[in-house]
Amino acid sequence: MLAPVENRAFALSDDDRAVIEMARAFADEKLAPHALEWDEKKHFPIDVLRETAALGMGACYVSEDWGGSGLTRLQTALVFEALSTGCPAVASYLSIHNMVAGLIERFGDETLKAKYMPAMVSMEMLSSYCLTEPGSGSDAAALKTRARREGDFYIVDGVKQFISGAGSTDLYAVMVRTGEEGPKGISCLLIEKDMPGLSFGANEKKMGWNAQPTRQVIMENCRVPVSNLVGKEGQGFTIAMNGLDGGRLNISASALGGAQAAFDKAKTYLSERVAFGRKLQEFQALQFRLADMAIDLEAARILLYAAASAYDRKEPDATMRCAMAKRFVTETASSVADRALQLLGGYGYLQDYGIEKIVRDLRVHQILEGTNEIMRMIVARNLLGTR
Ligand SMILES: Cc1cc2nc3c(=O)[nH]c(=O)nc-3n(C[C@H](O)[C@H](O)[C@H](O)COP(=O)(O)OP(=O)(O)OC[C@H]3O[C@@H](n4cnc5c(N)ncnc54)[C@H](O)[C@@H]3O)c2cc1C
Repeated sequence: MLAPVENRAFALSDDDRAVIEMARAFADEKLAPHALEWDEKKHFPIDVLRETAALGMGACYVSEDWGGSGLTRLQTALVFEALSTGCPAVASYLSIHNMVAGLIERFGDETLKAKYMPAMVSMEMLSSYCLTEPGSGSDAAALKTRARREGDFYIVDGVKQFISGAGSTDLYAVMVRTGEEGPKGISCLLIEKDMPGLSFGANEKKMGWNAQPTRQVIMENCRVPVSNLVGKEGQGFTIAMNGLDGGRLNISASALGGAQAAFDKAKTYLSERVAFGRKLQEFQALQFRLADMAIDLEAARILLYAAASAYDRKEPDATMRCAMAKRFVTETASSVADRALQLLGGYGYLQDYGIEKIVRDLRVHQILEGTNEIMRMIVARNLLGTR
């Protein structure tokens, strides 16, 4: 199997390789040995997440001016691909924190950046991205959370649904309605955990991603200083969607790394397990399965790197390419992980072998940061020029 380091399609530089090696070493030492226990105990490893900040992974694509690592989107995808070989759930949370740090840097004014960027980069503050509501997911522009101005404060009322990290994180980038119906009436506010009127729902019981909490974020007469507006009033939908393009690259990269880990486990298993007097890897039917899985992973990897490169070059079709990659990579990754499980027979179904957790974790990558149906919609709109 070609590891990313050996992938020549994008002529990875020495810097790219260094980034992969650093993230992979962290995944091997700090994530993989604990991933099953975190999943079982539903433990969100904040201390370990904070350790990633010391290596620059809390703000991968924030510029060095603000203390970030200044990585390209391709390099960032390499980080998340490598990290998630250790635990896709933890790597994916980190990708969300990166998304919030990125949107504050890109759209926040200097005062807001001075207030939050240092703590975001060091991960003294962890963050959550709050767009989805109980009544609006794919149709995000229909959101109802309302913010009205009262002197130097916004008073916010509404509920956000399915928020990753919620309750354990410190800063919430919340899309709220300050104006008319539709996307133009939406603004983005930064709400701190301790601001009056903010509370959280119960930790949802989920199929996977158990190493990070998912809760409702509830705002009742929540008082937020006007200075915590990101960008301008009415710019919130643009901010939210801008974050998601890059977010989709990272969520795809996390799926890919998880699938690679499942593939590697299955490959090792085939070289050890004996049936009918021979090692499983000697059966051509299984060799062909392994070959197909490797081909599928490689195709996904190349599509992902191409989309990340298009994003880095600010190509006009970058949004479509990110959507294409998200649809293809997340579905391929789930399929490869599921096939890896099958190759372990009954052992694949047992927790201790680690693959069933990957299968459970990767399923949600087809649903969040825009479902894969919405990805098809984005691609079709671009192809057909329709809205
Ligand atoms: C574990 C987890 C973590 C999450 N983390 C976050 C987070 O941190 N922040 C956040 O804001 N959100 C988060 N989400 C929410 C996630 O982004 C939404 O669940 C997702 O966008 C889909 O919205 P929905 O669940 O309301 O489904 P709906 O939008 O109601 O869709 C239901 C089904 O209909 C399909 N569909 C909808 N509209 C169309 C259409 N026009 N054409 C074709 N098919 C369509 C969808 O693809 C889907 O299959 C998370 C979700 C989960 C499960």
